[in-house]
Amino acid sequence: MGSIQALRGTRDILPEEIGYWQKVESVAHDILSRAAYQEIRTPIFEQTSLFERGIGEATDVVGKEMYTFKDRGNRSITLRPEGTAGVVRAFIEHGLAAQGGVQRLWYGGPMFRYERPQAGRQRQFHQIGVEVLGSPSPRADTEVIAIATQILQTLGLKNLHLNLNSIGDSEDRQNYREALIAYLTPFKSELDPDSQDRLTRNPLRILDSKDERTQEILQAAPSILDYLNPDSKTRFEQVQQQLTSLGIPYEVNPRLVRGLDYYTHTVFEIQSDDLGAQATVCAGGRYDGLVAQLGGPDTPAVGWAIGLERLILLLQQLQPVTPENIDFYVVSRGEPAEAQALVLAQTLRQRGFSVELDLSGSAFGKQFKRADRSGAAACFILGDAEAETQTVQLKWLATGKQEAIAQSSLISLTESLRQQIADSRAGVTGGSR
Ligand code: ATP
Ligand code: MG
Repeated sequence: MGSIQALRGTRDILPEEIGYWQKVESVAHDILSRAAYQEIRTPIFEQTSLFERGIGEATDVVGKEMYTFKDRGNRSITLRPEGTAGVVRAFIEHGLAAQGGVQRLWYGGPMFRYERPQAGRQRQFHQIGVEVLGSPSPRADTEVIAIATQILQTLGLKNLHLNLNSIGDSEDRQNYREALIAYLTPFKSELDPDSQDRLTRNPLRILDSKDERTQEILQAAPSILDYLNPDSKTRFEQVQQQLTSLGIPYEVNPRLVRGLDYYTHTVFEIQSDDLGAQATVCAGGRYDGLVAQLGGPDTPAVGWAIGLERLILLLQQLQPVTPENIDFYVVSRGEPAEAQALVLAQTLRQRGFSVELDLSGSAFGKQFKRADRSGAAACFILGDAEAETQTVQLKWLATGKQEAIAQSSLISLTESLRQQIADSRAGVTGGSR
């Protein structure tokens, strides 16, 4: 019988890779908490209608990509394809709007879309995202963009481009929509099939088409920027001025529309030169209509999501992230020594050290080899002689210096051991894992 494998489009993240994930998570967490964002965790599945109403039925996500199924109670359930709809549902359900002021939230976790798997595109993938609810200020738009930029920069990423656009308010967009349909209709038969289909249902999405002929036709299409009313225009200019004052470079791209229906005014994407076809690492924008659309009070909002798989592909090109070295490796052989070693390792951990206990029972020589490979600063050794005298050998792996210590004196040596580990790490220039 064949063994069972992970489903297509899903991946195991193994220990050798987990360092990248933990680094991204800790950098993001740190930056977000310093900007007063609080974490929110919402369920991974929701009622299907939340996404239909929140994301829009004419989008790719809702139209073709959702993992939707009937549960045993015959309810239609969907694995969340993105984070915003669930956060907004929670915001409404728990009356967070009534707390007044601005809510700065962030989330992280797996998302699910039925797409063709390829590099940087999976069926279960991960995002970290932010949502700022309750502020109509363009400064909120700029703040979230600045935070995304700070996270990516802190991780050391280069060759990133911020693409920026405004898609105005719903009236601007309605006017533009009509102009775009009027322009494209004479070319209808030359558009790619998807775009033909979108011409009436979701014409702005045609701007996103990858088809060459469609893109050629779009060259002379009207620009959304010519359809912004004075207020929308001012907002967009303010965001640009604020980005400039923060020293964040950007490029205005009037073709940039986002895949989800709920966006208004500012939309943006951060793309990398180093990712091939799936270049967008971070995407977001303002969505002033969504909270009301989902039955809540009128609440302006802005947010983004970073795709972690793509981010980690970039990090892996940059620098190896290795696990932290442990402090001590404990080697023992013979029954009484092994019993004492178990206690010794636990005592050291309780004193705050990181400790790996060799469980193999193999010859000392083999255990010493593993100690060397472990990256530990020092090795504790217990054999029959040590067990008998309630002592332990402590060997510093960088220098080979070795001393015998009474097991009972270990606790009083804690500070001195800590200092010696720091000294030995400072003196070691390589050779550890
Ligand atoms: P794309 O055009 O790449 O399909 P999208 O517009 O569908 O992106 P969003 O819904 O805005 O993407 O999601 C934000 C980010 O999440 C994307 O920029 C990307 O980094 C990541 N992402 C989206 N879908 C996937 C996926 N199937 N696999 C991995 N990452 C994804
Ligand atoms: Mg997509």
